Amino acid sequence: MPAQAVGARRPSGAARLAALIRGAERAVVLTGAGISVPSGIPDFRSPGTGLWQNVDPMEVAHIDAWRGDPDRFWAFYGQRFASLIDTRPNPAHRVLAELERQGRVRGVITQNIDRLHRMAGSRRVIEVHGSIEFSRCLRCGGRVSLDRVVELLRAGDGAPKCVECSVPLKPDVVLFGELLPEEAMAEAQQLAAQADLMICIGSSLTVYPVALLPELTRRAGGRLALVTAGETPFDCQAEVKLEGDVADELEAVRAELLV
Ligand code: ZN
Repeated sequence: MPAQAVGARRPSGAARLAALIRGAERAVVLTGAGISVPSGIPDFRSPGTGLWQNVDPMEVAHIDAWRGDPDRFWAFYGQRFASLIDTRPNPAHRVLAELERQGRVRGVITQNIDRLHRMAGSRRVIEVHGSIEFSRCLRCGGRVSLDRVVELLRAGDGAPKCVECSVPLKPDVVLFGELLPEEAMAEAQQLAAQADLMICIGSSLTVYPVALLPELTRRAGGRLALVTAGETPFDCQAEVKLEGDVADELEAVRAELLV
């Protein structure tokens, strides 16, 4: 039977999300690892993927590992840096940057450390797990850029060190065993509590305390939309859930917004 004969069809998920975005005044986006999968960055929580296949991330990416043996820590973590340096934003990141430019979303809260939202042109990016963009000397507070850190790593001299203090640098990312950056979390919570729409993309929404953010939006009377393939604790509360490829889904939402 031709589709037009079916009569009044239910609008597609993308059309429903586009309508929610149109109707919102203070929409905010929350992203997790799933948005960077089309950029070739595996989600380390998916079993058997890439770099994290044979190691326990909780052990090798732990603050105690960095404190205890920085050379060994960097021997592993440096591979992660090297694998991320050539990655580029994908259409999903670009659609979000465009929505911000159009004034349709206020900002992006992300659990990702890959800096791809900024590369795509998003301006208000709240990186609650930090970013690989810089590494830091905890003694003098000096920051060293990703390019320089990768150069130092390629020189093969163990942990990259501060030129002034000669102490090992720490990546500006939140390692296991560390608290989340207070300022970023406060800003994320404020955005979530003020949002009339939170669009959660590529996150299982199970990692605390980030998982509390959709609840803040809901409690304040805001709506939730999900763009993620896996199950989340908020599936029943969401107005709409898109489960296809994240880049395809967001491109479809973008196209609906042009209509
Ligand atoms: Zn220093």
